[in-house]
Amino acid sequence: MIAVKEHAYAKINLYLDVLAKRDDGFHDIKTVMHTVSLSDEITVSVKPSARPRVTLEIIGNGKLPTDGRNLAVQAAELFLSTLLANSEVHIRLIKRIPVSAGLAGGSTDAAAVLRALNKAFGRPLTEKRLLALASELGSDVPYCLLGGTALCLGRGEIIERLPDKLHLYLVVAVADEHVSTPAAYAELDSIYSDFKSDRTDGAEECFNAVLASVESGILTEHKLFNIFENAIFKTCFGAESIKTKLFELGATHSLMSGSGPSIFGIFDNQKSAEAARDELIKSGIRAYYAETV
Ligand code: ATP
Repeated sequence: MIAVKEHAYAKINLYLDVLAKRDDGFHDIKTVMHTVSLSDEITVSVKPSARPRVTLEIIGNGKLPTDGRNLAVQAAELFLSTLLANSEVHIRLIKRIPVSAGLAGGSTDAAAVLRALNKAFGRPLTEKRLLALASELGSDVPYCLLGGTALCLGRGEIIERLPDKLHLYLVVAVADEHVSTPAAYAELDSIYSDFKSDRTDGAEECFNAVLASVESGILTEHKLFNIFENAIFKTCFGAESIKTKLFELGATHSLMSGSGPSIFGIFDNQKSAEAARDELIKSGIRAYYAETV
């Protein structure tokens, strides 16, 4: 039996805009993503078998499905069918990333399973083929496969690597609110219609500032931007109040990640970030200290 362990890192969006609704129902997005140290842990154990079989055990979350509805299982099944491999794969997932929070928890697990299985099988698939499998699994999975800092376009699968120079001290916090990603996009469709009309939200300036920060490794003072934020804050009052609290606690920047409702705050140093996390936890909010990785 071969066992391989992989970290599955969460992501945050330092910038997120939606450019168009496509005929296939997806949206074209423009986002700068960064992996953060908040992570799940995946261990795959592989042994020979008469036929392909995938099992999943989850530690730390009793609510997630352990069958074919779980992206980690889907990734393993896709990998085995691509290689026509008759193997039994057992996945042990330690779940720490908050679920349905805009942190790509499921996507990063799927990507980690692909990386781990490719190692366990002696690297039969090139990065290009792994990326193709990843994009079958979901829009964020190709980015999660590579990690680091990247500009992602299309539905997220067109990835341009950016320098990994930014080192950020973060607090990631989640209120007990639910956001459905399709509902979040539907809300944007109703606000922006075809996304073509003149925009007055300063998105382009924010994008240029984020790119300048990423290129130099020094975060500019300019605010960050996520097109989903105002739409989600209309119903997720907890998320908006976390953003306010993060600023009160000394964050220099704060933004919702993905389609929410998680909010991250950026602090000058580890000590002030950890102190802010402790304050949020004291007021009953799930909050985590993290750094960019
Ligand atoms: P994204 O930022 O990519 O939109 P998210 O962080 O908002 O993703 P996830 O945590 O990936 O959301 O969960 C979205 C849905 O995927 C949930 O309904 C969950 O049940 C399902 N799911 C399937 N597999 C997993 C997994 N391994 N971890 C978390 N969620 C999973």
